[in-house]
Parts: sequence; C-alpha cells; structure tokens
Amino acid sequence: MSMKLKNIRKNFGKTRAVDNVSIEIETGEFLTLLGPSGCGKTTILRIIAGLENVTSGQVFLEDDEITHLNPTKRDISIMFQDYALFPHMSISENVSYGLRMRGIRKAERNKQAIDWLETMQLSSVQNRYPSELSGGQRQRVALARALITNPKILLLDEPLSALDANLRIRLREELRRIHKQVGTTFVCVTHDQEEAMALSDRIAILKDGQVEQIGTPNELYDQPASEFVANFFGKCALWPLKRDTKNKTTAYLSDSNIKCKTNIIEKSEKNYAVIRPEFLQISNVNKNDSDKLKGKVLDILTKGASNQVTVEFQNKLVIDLSVPRKQKLPEINGDVHVKLLQSYLHAITN
Ligand code: ATP
Repeated sequence: MSMKLKNIRKNFGKTRAVDNVSIEIETGEFLTLLGPSGCGKTTILRIIAGLENVTSGQVFLEDDEITHLNPTKRDISIMFQDYALFPHMSISENVSYGLRMRGIRKAERNKQAIDWLETMQLSSVQNRYPSELSGGQRQRVALARALITNPKILLLDEPLSALDANLRIRLREELRRIHKQVGTTFVCVTHDQEEAMALSDRIAILKDGQVEQIGTPNELYDQPASEFVANFFGKCALWPLKRDTKNKTTAYLSDSNIKCKTNIIEKSEKNYAVIRPEFLQISNVNKNDSDKLKGKVLDILTKGASNQVTVEFQNKLVIDLSVPRKQKLPEINGDVHVKLLQSYLHAITN
C-alpha cells in the first residue's frame, strides 16, 4: 500500500518539530526516516499512525486522505521501541491479540497465530511468557503481533535499539528477510545510519524537521546533496573546487590538476568535492605525478585487517586513509602521492 505525506507541518507550541515534509512511500517499500535526535522522526511516525495531529498538511493512504482518520481505522500497525508485549499473556496470546480485538473466532485466531509463529521461528516457545524469551525472540513476537492483522503499513520505532550490539547486527538481516517475505510496506525510524543502510530500500534524511535528502542508500552515500548528508554516512572530507574559467561544467580540485566534472559549479561560489577515504590510494612518489594529490604522512595506526594512514595534503586537509596490511607503508613525516579514484567524485555546494 503506497502512502503520501504532503507538506506536513507540526508545531509543539513554539517548537516546529516537522517543517513542510513531503514524502511518497511505494507499496512494499522499506523506507527509513533517519536523523539526529530531535529532528522530528518520531513525530512523523506518530502522524502516520494517527497518534499526533498535524498543524497543517495532508496524509494519504493510496488515494484516500487519512489526515484526520481515527488511528484504529487506519489499518496501520506500529511496533514500539520496547515492543510493549503483554507480560501476563503467553507468546501465542500476544501474537493473536489483534485478531481477538477484531472479534475473530478462537479457532481462526489460533490457526493464524500458528502460521505467524512458524514464519517467525517461534513455534517452540509459543506457550512461554515474554519474560522467558531472549531479546531477539521478543522482537519477532512483536513483529508477528503487529503483522497478524495484515496492516497496510507497519511502522517501526527504533526496532533494534533494545538489543545488544551483536544481536542488533544479526537481527537487521532477519528484519530485512521478514520484510521481503511478507511484502508489507515498512516505515522505520532510527538514528543509526548503518542500520538504516542495511535495512532500507530508501532513506529520508531529516534535519531540523525538514527532509534534507531522500534516496537509496547508495545514492545518499555516493551523491550526497549536502555536507550534512555526506557526513552522516561515514568519514569524508570536502575538498574545495576551483572553477575552470573556460568550461562551466569542469572544476579542479584546489592545489591540483585533477578535474571534477559537475553541473552545479555555476550555482555557488563555494563548491566542494566529496572525498571518502576509500577513493584514495597511496602510491610511490614520482616527480612526474601531475595527476596525484600530494601530502605528508602525519601518523600510522594499526587496525587489524588494515592500517590507517593519516595524510595532511598541501591544502591542509587531513584525511585518514585505509591501507591493506600487505601493502608497504610510507614513513611517518615522509611525503606521499595519493591517487584518486575519480569515477566516484561528486560535487556539492555549501
Ligand atoms: P529522538 O531520536 O531523540 O527520538 P526525534 O527525531 O524522534 O528524536 P521528535 O521526538 O520527533 O524527534 O521531536 C522533534 C522535536 O519536537 C523536538 O524538539 C522535541 O523536543 C519536540 N517534541 C516532540 N514531542 C513533543 C511534545 N509532545 N511536546 C513538545 N515538544 C515535543
């Protein structure tokens, strides 16, 4: 089921929690709202669920406007951060709870619960109580309970945050598998960029109540629209670009002859190329190296599978490069030439 948020605003007194947000979510998509604390993610999720009124704007489910529809009439389920399982009910009763609330007969409830318990690999614990399960099992119970009513959309509020780090990584894959298997539209909220990347078909990056950029994980990583987005996904450096006076679509990395093709150079005076550490390769110093960036090694750190070499370039930018362990290391304080894998170069304005 597709859904659309159109020009959503939400004020809490003088605080503007959501500021003119428009997002379209495709049927069966896994969309994640990602951003730092206080950027408005949870408020948007609650607006979709109908737990919060909008100040202005509209919410659509397919072609129907549901902006002011009662939450119980929306066919939207929500899985809360702490799972909110009923401690006094067995796992099987927890899973079938939504059907009981809808007046479905016991035999049918049990049949559907058995199917969901099987899907979630929980059949062997169906008679236990929530306190007798592991964190991962509790998460799957919460998912089964949210999905058994066949909602059009499942909202997930920080679905993995209650778990320890190792389990979180394992259950990401599990959650992705379940999403593929059931085909329901999932809208998730997290502040963890790795989690968002691993789970989502598309990610909406939020900043101060606004959508900064929306795209697939690779689009956001390779073609960030702003410094905020670029920095959200791992390390990067912004290398100033200088215009080519003759060619409007070409710029040079400052202090080098390295070209960057871009169509945004005209828009702003301040243009930068986004450089991620993996775009750079240390090479031997060669006098004729006009196509390499020149720098000096400040430090070398051993990091198991690779070594981290900190290089200060001629324009004073400092970048940590990852060098495979087998590769010969440069000397600390020595000069280095660094090759740039240009095909990844992407320009932004500031
Ligand atoms: P977190 O990751 O910390 O949960 P978030 O991105 O989910 O943050 P929201 O909870 O949506 O952010 O809050 C957005 C802004 O609205 C914040 O400034 C918050 O203080 C404010 N806010 C949220 N709910 C209320 C409320 N009920 N009353 C007043 N202000 C609120």
